Amino acid sequence: MEPYPRPKIPVEPILSLESFGRNQKPQLPSIVDVGRAKFVTSGRIAIAQALRHTGIKPGEKVLVPSYHCASMVAPVLWAKATPVFFCINPDTSVDLRDAEKQLDDDVKVMLVTHYFGFPQPMTEIRQFCDKHGLMLIEDCAHAFFGTYDQQPLGSFGDYAIASAMKFFPVYDGGCLVSNKHALDDIVLTSPGRTFQIKAFLNNLEHAYEYNRLRPLRYLTYLPMYLLNQIWKNIKALSQDSRENPIGPASSDGGFGLDPHWIDTSMSSISKVVIQSTSTGRLITKRREHYLALLDALSDLPNCYPLFANLPDGTVPYVFPLVVNDPEPVFDQLKRQGVPIIRFGETLCFSNETDQCGVSKSFSRRTLQFPCHQDLRPEELQWMIETIRKTFATN
Ligand SMILES: *Cc1c(COP(=O)(O)O)cnc(C)c1O
Repeated sequence: MEPYPRPKIPVEPILSLESFGRNQKPQLPSIVDVGRAKFVTSGRIAIAQALRHTGIKPGEKVLVPSYHCASMVAPVLWAKATPVFFCINPDTSVDLRDAEKQLDDDVKVMLVTHYFGFPQPMTEIRQFCDKHGLMLIEDCAHAFFGTYDQQPLGSFGDYAIASAMKFFPVYDGGCLVSNKHALDDIVLTSPGRTFQIKAFLNNLEHAYEYNRLRPLRYLTYLPMYLLNQIWKNIKALSQDSRENPIGPASSDGGFGLDPHWIDTSMSSISKVVIQSTSTGRLITKRREHYLALLDALSDLPNCYPLFANLPDGTVPYVFPLVVNDPEPVFDQLKRQGVPIIRFGETLCFSNETDQCGVSKSFSRRTLQFPCHQDLRPEELQWMIETIRKTFATN
């Protein structure tokens, strides 16, 4: 089978001049407002840090939602703990009755995800964890911003983690926060200069690929060329590049966890980008794009939007559409260059979800379309029209 073409529009946030600038309203809290924060290179490393900080011992158990991606399980295995899966309900909320069935004396930690940016019922979940003496890790990988019951997401857990790549135009980045535990004993070292250069180059390259930062492109042509040459040489020189890669797998589309990145801090360029991003624009655009998709795709046959409402305090990660018979439309859309994310896409082939029909079904049937802040109006329009046409002929 022919490989799918590169998406015609950017699947994730991308650097442009509009990314920055004066902070506009509206403002919503982000995970870094919650408490002490540590910036690492990815969300999965933040999970690993959180687990280590709980003091979990080898052989003890972590409750993990059966609707998950491999990068949520990798840190549990890294901590030599055992993942135990619990079911979710058809509205993606945690099925606490099923979670209770999984409990035994070895279960010490619960990991809970705000899928696609939509909050879990945190009051009940917090009560459940307190009742059973569990530490709670709030996985805000899809919810860098937002509130539940007027409180910031990330403030309910003992720890919360986020992934920067899903919300900001950065190559690397993740964060661990806590408003309940001091994180002073976590000491991070800065990544090497080669990684810093790679993170910087990757940002620019990605932007140029999708025709952003045009004026800069010519200005930086020569420096980019030279840096790329240096880059190639570094790669050729580092013989142990497989054991000691210059970038973590998290930045290049993999799901693995690289143990030697655990104690490394986020690149400087990512810090600068995150600090200078206009979060008001980010929040407004994501919500606008989500509502435009909702409006345009709600009446399509043989599918339904997973969340038909966008609550006030919610900043969506993507637009999830549940499709009855996903394979033909997935294939046709990918061929036309429509970017699609499928959270937990391999779960339907694994026995991890056997006890949860909802997770198995979602992992196969939920297609997610981007609604990030850096989609241009004509790109969003093209995506909507292509999706509508494709569904009409299926
Ligand atoms: C992406 C993701 C992670 C891991 O984040 P990375 O930054 O890719 O390591 C964790 N949890 C969920 C729910 C995710 O979607």
